[in-house]
Amino acid sequence: MSKLLSQNIESLAEFLAHALELEVESAERYRELADNMRVHNNPEVSELFRKLAHYGDTHAAEVEQRAADFELPYISPWDFKWSCPEAPESPCMEDAHYMMTKCQALELALHNEIRGRDFYAQVANGSSDPAVREAAAEMAAEEDTHVNMLREWVAREACVTEKRPLDLDPP
Ligand code: ZN
Repeated sequence: MSKLLSQNIESLAEFLAHALELEVESAERYRELADNMRVHNNPEVSELFRKLAHYGDTHAAEVEQRAADFELPYISPWDFKWSCPEAPESPCMEDAHYMMTKCQALELALHNEIRGRDFYAQVANGSSDPAVREAAAEMAAEEDTHVNMLREWVAREACVTEKRPLDLDPP
């Protein structure tokens, strides 16, 4: 698992600032994907992404509520943005996502749920502050349920078959 944080998070306020950014962005991305899937006649997947957007909203609201007691620190523009799965040729994010297929959308979502979960898990393991560890572990567990939900969808859609076939005739 690649390191998603350059240094450990040692205060709850700092953790909440990161979590808020992560959840807000995630909800936005899911809304975009949901709209995109609706336009392309994938109402079921659109529905799934709406649900995931809703989870992101709920998380963000919980985090904001917890953060009410704190002055959240400014965190510098963070590189924890949604990213594309490893496949460099898959359409991803703004550039090409209007032409994204159902499987590509699911893979993109799965990739980012895994990153979210791993981020929280890394915070939980790395912090010396018990309050941070506890909050991060809770979030990691919830993200893990989203990862599993998406894995089931990817399996159900038999997305593997849509991936580029193994290169049988390498250069
Ligand atoms: Zn999630």
